[in-house]
Amino acid sequence: MAAQALYRKWRPQTFEEVVGQQHVIHTLQNALQGGHISHAYLFAGPRGTGKTSVARLLAKAVNCLSEGDAKPCNQCRICRAINQGRLLDLIEIDAASNRGIDEIRNLRDKIGFRPNEARYKVYILDEAHMLTEPAFNALLKTLEEPPPHVIFVLVTTEPHKIPATILSRCQRFDFRPIALDDIVARLEHIADREGLSVEPAALQLIARQATGSMRDAESLLDQLMAYGGGKITLAQVQAILGAVPAQAVGELVDRLVARDLAGGLEAIGRAIGEGVDPRQLARQVVEHLRGLLLIKVGGSAPADVSAEEVQKMKGQAAQLSVGQLLRAVKLFNQAQLDLRGNLQPQLPLELAFVEATLGEQAAAPPKKSAPQAAPVRTKKVSEPKAPIGAGEKATLEGVRINWARILAQVKVHNRSVEALLKSCEPVAVEGEVVVLGFYYPFHKEKIEEPSRKALVERVISQVVGSPCRVKCVLSPKGGRRTRATRKPAEEPKAAKAETEEARDKYQAVVEDPLIKAAVSKYGARVVDVK
Ligand SMILES: [Zn+2]
Repeated sequence: MAAQALYRKWRPQTFEEVVGQQHVIHTLQNALQGGHISHAYLFAGPRGTGKTSVARLLAKAVNCLSEGDAKPCNQCRICRAINQGRLLDLIEIDAASNRGIDEIRNLRDKIGFRPNEARYKVYILDEAHMLTEPAFNALLKTLEEPPPHVIFVLVTTEPHKIPATILSRCQRFDFRPIALDDIVARLEHIADREGLSVEPAALQLIARQATGSMRDAESLLDQLMAYGGGKITLAQVQAILGAVPAQAVGELVDRLVARDLAGGLEAIGRAIGEGVDPRQLARQVVEHLRGLLLIKVGGSAPADVSAEEVQKMKGQAAQLSVGQLLRAVKLFNQAQLDLRGNLQPQLPLELAFVEATLGEQAAAPPKKSAPQAAPVRTKKVSEPKAPIGAGEKATLEGVRINWARILAQVKVHNRSVEALLKSCEPVAVEGEVVVLGFYYPFHKEKIEEPSRKALVERVISQVVGSPCRVKCVLSPKGGRRTRATRKPAEEPKAAKAETEEARDKYQAVVEDPLIKAAVSKYGARVVDVK
């Protein structure tokens, strides 16, 4: 497909052609010229910044047969074989596709063999952070005693996910997002060679849209070539961007995968703010999710998606279950329908996102050991926690988050006990003992009566999912402080409305239509506003 063409065609063939990574290239070239070759490199940095391209250049440079200093020469037998993708001694492993287990095992079996035709066997481990623990362990054994003819290049967008034991054995290079001007200059060069006439403002917009990724910029230029022929105008770029918010879609799904509620809502808001049509966005999200579903059930990826995008989608699909995907497709599809004539243009979209992220989690709380069970990160809304698994100790945070639920359940059994509990708050958890701080001795003494205390203990144990006892203490200071700013009988105890300003902020969030909808639909509760 056309979108790959420019990117492949203009992949840098020499170190000089690499855009915007002078600090990496300089160090690497000096080392190579001095004959200092490391057995393991780590190339870290954002997507589309040239990591894999430089890894291939490195493979060429260490194996180039040229007598001169300018390596790679791109003329010799080895350079040409690499450029044509047929050198057996350059092995590229995509850790994202099957998490690398078979490849690493295979690699350990074969690593002792000499290279077929080149001086060095070069292994490029793409998306290296996706390797499984057994694969990392196997790799570590190899890195501890690397055969002299082997070079590893670990390529990753997320170096923090690579074990320290591996990192310490790699020479690390950090790739930076490519500067806007560098992208513009490179696009000008490509456009010139391709015989395109592009308005300067159009180039600027393409470069800005690419946010530091040369690959994204080249893909966009490719789309525009297909769209506008030999002349590309600013208006065309704007039209294309309005119609294909691929980045916005990708980011939204990334946030869904990460269960990042705040990030997802921000992404929606930003996209709408940039003039993206919410219905179009919903439609694209549905298409994207449908693609993930196809990949997930073993079908082929949608035909109109680039190979790069397919790799990314495979990574996303790996982190969602079929059930989660089905659910998300349905929700965003419904959002697309709900968007017709809606006065709050982005609300159905936001609700779909919240439900796709939160709803499934509320329905089936993921086990702690499951790798995909990333916690919901949220600034504004927090669902009441489901009971903590049996055998786990209660925490103060857990009790506080569930406090409103505890009060509600106590109320079912005994209204006056619930009323008494309103003049206290959980102040500590010591082992199995939940410490309640009362503002007045009278209320404390009432709750300390055995039958009332037993009721409170039973309900707390039930809600937090582990046996708890209750200890009552006096904490008048905390009481006055919180009571002074609390509106009567409305706000949950955990709301840290310390000042007037914070209270106003809190109130604004509580009254936000989206938050209201989430509260009524999912029983979520505003816990804190930051
Ligand atoms: Zn060469």
